[in-house]
Amino acid sequence: MTRNRSSAHTKAQKAGRERDGNRCQICGSRNRVEGHHIVDYQFGGAASVDNIIALCRKHHIDVHSGKIDIFII
Ligand SMILES: [Zn+2]
Ligand SMILES: [Zn+2]
Repeated sequence: MTRNRSSAHTKAQKAGRERDGNRCQICGSRNRVEGHHIVDYQFGGAASVDNIIALCRKHHIDVHSGKIDIFII
């Protein structure tokens, strides 16, 4: 039994990026902006734009390396 979750997550990432105007929500950069899952789907995060934040490459790496914490206010 396989279920493809990744395509739903990819769609949510794209929709979240567009909602954020393709700008990093930390620094406002438009350079290589990616959708980041605030709660990773491995930990039960939803495939929904509410769970996505747009981040530039640099800040995305910082979040994943634990330099920056993102949480829902
Ligand atoms: Zn940034
Ligand atoms: Zn991420």
